[in-house]
Amino acid sequence: MKKDNFKIAVFAGDGIGPEIMKEGLKILNVISEKKKIKLQIQEGLAGGCAYDKSGTPLPDASLKLAIKSDAVLLGAVGGPQWESLDYSVRPERALLGLRSNLGIYANLRPVVVFEELLNASPLKKSIVRGIDIMIVRELTGDVYFGKPRGVRKGKDGKRHGINTMAYSEDEIRRIAVRAFEIARTRKKNLTSVDKANILETMELWRDIVTQVGKKYPDVILKHMYVDNCALQLIRDPSQFDVIVTTNLFGDILSDEAAMLTGSIGMLPSASLGKKSALYEPIHGSAPDIAGKNIANPLAMILSVALMLRYSLSLPREAALIEKAVGETLKAGFRTKDIYQKNKKTVGTAEMGDAVAKNLRKLMI
Ligand code: NAD
Repeated sequence: MKKDNFKIAVFAGDGIGPEIMKEGLKILNVISEKKKIKLQIQEGLAGGCAYDKSGTPLPDASLKLAIKSDAVLLGAVGGPQWESLDYSVRPERALLGLRSNLGIYANLRPVVVFEELLNASPLKKSIVRGIDIMIVRELTGDVYFGKPRGVRKGKDGKRHGINTMAYSEDEIRRIAVRAFEIARTRKKNLTSVDKANILETMELWRDIVTQVGKKYPDVILKHMYVDNCALQLIRDPSQFDVIVTTNLFGDILSDEAAMLTGSIGMLPSASLGKKSALYEPIHGSAPDIAGKNIANPLAMILSVALMLRYSLSLPREAALIEKAVGETLKAGFRTKDIYQKNKKTVGTAEMGDAVAKNLRKLMI
């Protein structure tokens, strides 16, 4: 897609959502002004704020806006004031509605440890220094959706629980192609994680990923069992470039990998779909710190970078945003959650300003 005019749907959401979104948009404005591209940014309501206004967390107008856009940027949704609502209208339903209507099937979670934040990791610096991993998690299959499922009474009169691990060839092929394509834009090193030594579904997974790999001879493909991967992520995370895995294993491994960085306010995500893609920080709406100008906007800003890379075909500008974040940290700027001694504690808006200033300099 080579365009100079993009439609972006923006849902700031609840809690710290509006505060961090403001900083994400600051960065987008710098890109639009310096690169001379037109960004049609349209804001909509999703989450608790949408429920308060219209009685539903994802009004039709919001859904339409998301579907007709090139990409969707989301802050965060939810908060204690909506916790007693019926499940069907809880703010988090907005996420499910967006994901299913956009045909989302892949979740991308980059795990990058910035040199300046090595101390935040619970692991030794020598282990996490320089890690840059992309986890590609399949989102539509596996035990979360396989049938039969449920808890029922068996012949022994006792309750039995069942969930079914299920994958079709097409589902595996689709995510494998995506992961190989991503690996091609990075260090060309892909690890497919499964449990093919025990589970037939995973044998099929390995078979299809290997088949797809034949079309990508420039990418080195390695297969790894999930238990070994869990161990290797702690023992030697820098061996990984791109990891592709199933819904269940990806759910667990991506949270494990997130902890390598030690800071939830730094981690962006992308959810790619058939119709569009959704970009959001991995953290929630942090109601405990909302409205205080102390939330870390960097996960939101890094989500904007992912959007440029994967939906707007602007990889150079995406890398410049990431570089601007690195330089801002190097200059000593810290929000409260990543505070370090002898560094400058700044608020949400000041952090956004500092990144925008560095980005402007890099885009001269
Ligand atoms: P949370 O991620 O909102 O907060 C967990 C902790 O991390 C809190 O102490 C919070 O202050 C801190 N934190 C989170 N983001 C931060 C940031 N950018 N800067 C500094 N500190 C940050 O998780 P939670 O407290 O379990 O959930 C709060 C609400 O968010 C709930 O209603 C939950 O359902 C919702 N939620 C939404 C999403 C989403 O919108 N994608 C994801 C997870 C949780």
